[in-house]
Amino acid sequence: MSNAKITSTGSSYGVQALPKIAYGKGSYLYDVNGKRYLDGSGGPAVYCLGHAHPEVTEAVKEQLDRIAHAYRYLFTSDAVEELTEIITRNTGGHFPNIVYVCSGSEAVESCMKIALQYHTARGEKSRRRFISRRRSWHGNTLGALSVSDFKTRRDAFEGSLLDVTFVSSANAYRRPEGVSAEGLVAYLAQELEDEILKIGPDKVAAFIFEPVVGAAGGVVPAPEGYARAVRDVCDRYGVLLIGDEVMCGSGRTGTWRALEHDGVVPDIMSIAKGLAAGYQPLGAALYSDKVHETLMAAHGGAMTGHTFTGHTAACAAGVAVQKIVTRDRLMERVTARGAQLQAELRAALADVAEVGDVRGRGFFIGLEMVADPETKEPFPAYASLHAAIGRRAFEAGLICYPCTGNVGGVAGDTVILAPPYNAREEELAEMVATLSSAIRESVAEAHRTVAN
Ligand code: PMP
Repeated sequence: MSNAKITSTGSSYGVQALPKIAYGKGSYLYDVNGKRYLDGSGGPAVYCLGHAHPEVTEAVKEQLDRIAHAYRYLFTSDAVEELTEIITRNTGGHFPNIVYVCSGSEAVESCMKIALQYHTARGEKSRRRFISRRRSWHGNTLGALSVSDFKTRRDAFEGSLLDVTFVSSANAYRRPEGVSAEGLVAYLAQELEDEILKIGPDKVAAFIFEPVVGAAGGVVPAPEGYARAVRDVCDRYGVLLIGDEVMCGSGRTGTWRALEHDGVVPDIMSIAKGLAAGYQPLGAALYSDKVHETLMAAHGGAMTGHTFTGHTAACAAGVAVQKIVTRDRLMERVTARGAQLQAELRAALADVAEVGDVRGRGFFIGLEMVADPETKEPFPAYASLHAAIGRRAFEAGLICYPCTGNVGGVAGDTVILAPPYNAREEELAEMVATLSSAIRESVAEAHRTVAN
């Protein structure tokens, strides 16, 4: 036995001794002691086809038997070509230009570099500044972390991060002081425009946002009209729009691109988690023909990519996953069943006033807990309610995704459900029942902690 320590630094679960995984099957995972866990959040919203899907496993095996990885500067492959065709088709032809990577962070990092390169190519090298939003999460590499407003994950690196401007998040439940629900979109669009003007439009490279916020907000879909409004502001000032769909893309919200729902096409977008559904590490930066042609003319293409860019077996996994999602009409199911799942959660928790908000789209659902439903005051951070919910659910055999809202100065506790798109009816019912119990018990405990 080695004495290496397996750690999970930064986990919001608070699970002390990690159980050892044995295998997964469908929506369930089994540890070496035979304990069963229902995967209610697909890990961190990754496993959209559940575990050990025989067709995906077979496709990856077949590819490994042929060749695992063919270097992109020397060869193309069936897998890369087919996945590129699928993504291009699924994005309505808007994004035929793709840089494949191995994670969401690298996808975001690549999007940021493509934006900078675009402005350099156009002779506007002064456009270096990114604008992002508060309560956002874009990844753990230095660039991606720089545009993320997640205090606990940033603190150790402050001083070396890029100078980024943060504007308000688009959160209908927690609106800026004095802003009405009807006035929210106009307020946020104006705030973005004011920031661009303050910095100087000739200095702004891009605005990056998650169309449906994930880990930093506990699933927050932007209000209707928001995406269109920020698209218009960006267009007015030659600022590129980057949609980070690492978590909310690839069908999770019921459309292949989350921004499809808003009828908005960004200039550049990142995808990852659901693309190969965890069967291989795979992400991608997608960019429009407008951007591509500029990069081609000046530099012969995007100046980014890695040794494992277009990894053959990873792309084969992506092809298999995407074909199944389409063949089995899973996005239609996600749309219809997701709305019902939200309703079931609301009904099951109707007596728990501390469940302040249940929201989301498709199989991407967030619940936000508050100490006082009237004022929306959260529980104090020391009560660690989100972690308590995650830990209780885990002990009861349910994996959910607890998030601390204690980022960017905004406190709060949220928990995400992001089931596999093909989760069975009885599994969805089990998720609702186990999560409701975990929330009910943890809220009672949090009240006791605060009272003592
Ligand atoms: N962007 C978003 C929206 C994410 O949710 C995440 C991961 N939670 C990332 C980027 C980073 O992805 P990864 O962890 O695969 O690097």
